[in-house]
Amino acid sequence: MADRYLRLTGTAPGRFVTRRLGLPQPAALRRWSRQTPDLPGPVLRLAAGEKPAQGTYGAVVLDATAVADPADLRDVHATLHPLVRSLTPCGRIVVLGTPPRDGDLARSAAQQALEGFVRSLGKEIGRGCTAQLVRLAPGADAGSTLDFLLSPKSAYVSGQVIEVGPAPEVPAGGTRTALVTGAARGIGAAVAETLVRDGARVVLLDVPQAADALAEVAARLGGSALPLDITASDAGERMAAALPDGLDVLVHNAGITRDRRLANMPADRWDTVLDVNLGSVLRTTGHLLRTGTLNEHARIVGTASIAGIAGNTGQTNYAASKAGVIGYVRALAADTEVRGRGITANAVAPGFIETRMTAAVPLVIREAGRRMNSLGQGGQPVDVAETVAWLGSPASGGVNGQVVRVCGQSLLGA
Ligand code: NAD
Repeated sequence: MADRYLRLTGTAPGRFVTRRLGLPQPAALRRWSRQTPDLPGPVLRLAAGEKPAQGTYGAVVLDATAVADPADLRDVHATLHPLVRSLTPCGRIVVLGTPPRDGDLARSAAQQALEGFVRSLGKEIGRGCTAQLVRLAPGADAGSTLDFLLSPKSAYVSGQVIEVGPAPEVPAGGTRTALVTGAARGIGAAVAETLVRDGARVVLLDVPQAADALAEVAARLGGSALPLDITASDAGERMAAALPDGLDVLVHNAGITRDRRLANMPADRWDTVLDVNLGSVLRTTGHLLRTGTLNEHARIVGTASIAGIAGNTGQTNYAASKAGVIGYVRALAADTEVRGRGITANAVAPGFIETRMTAAVPLVIREAGRRMNSLGQGGQPVDVAETVAWLGSPASGGVNGQVVRVCGQSLLGA
């Protein structure tokens, strides 16, 4: 969907006029492509308190794991203060911390302080730059997380706090199989495409009414199409039947909205949204787990929404369903049997993403949705897809029970 304002500010005269009028200046985000696989400058890694060498950097990784007392936060300021202006456009700041709950009161306070710091930095840094906090639990393997955050793949992810733990060893295997629901268009089609880029074989699921579009996407990606309503009572069985070699990546992306304020919402609108967005996710995942269709070290990725975190007028049904997805992946991630099989469960929580779903939003609300985030623009389906691909990677075994917002750090939500 066209963001005309972003196009306008991308031209010299448009930039001139909008600057004079004091209007927002969203940066053109650098996204991953074969031509631009990296950030536009080197990555500087240093510890809080270290004096940085002068230069221009694509990213700064600040190790603040030794911050153990509020007084140590001065080191964070001392190191990053001179570096903020040395970042290239679309640069990254990643602060490494520890989970703020190890029983040591001063350390917990100081480590929690880093969250407020990073979220504020993300809001003020500008020029398409982002800031994140990665909390390293003992023995954490943050390799895939840092690869993602320090690349153009995370262009629309900012102000996030991600906890990483140890990752069980994943035996090298052959081609992985991924199933993406709601894959005929929008975010789901982009997720399937990105997983194929990363070497997976994909099964694309969507409602029978979308069978033609689904077949087209499947043919383009060399995957197979599974026309199926995810709410069908036998959906789990039919998914399993389409996966004779089991499943390595399950992406629950299918979702609908039926907005009305609660006072005006009939029960059928409530039920449909809860069933498509949440009930079917529990039923089908449960079936695929029980029947062993989900292979060891499988990755489950649910699709929440910032509405499920912050709430939204007219969306009690939708926000309830999306908050439910968050509750479900967290519970799965904590389940000893699921953990024992090396399976992880996480969720992405998109903000305003340019798709048919958001094109249907009334103009004024649409414009507000686009601008009311730190990056001043809507995201693209590929931004969610890249995040799903990171969470779905075999290398991401240490990322479990996390909810990662892909929202350009929207003003809505936490
Ligand atoms: P979309 O409407 O463009 O695509 C959703 C797809 O899901 C469609 O192809 C649809 O046919 C399919 N689907 C719907 N009901 C289904 C069912 N019962 N069985 C199988 N497939 C079904 O939406 P999108 O914008 O690409 O959103 C994808 C996901 O991201 C949804 O879960 C949505 O709630 C979530 N999300 C989107 C945004 C956004 O800004 N676009 C923001 C937050 C969350």
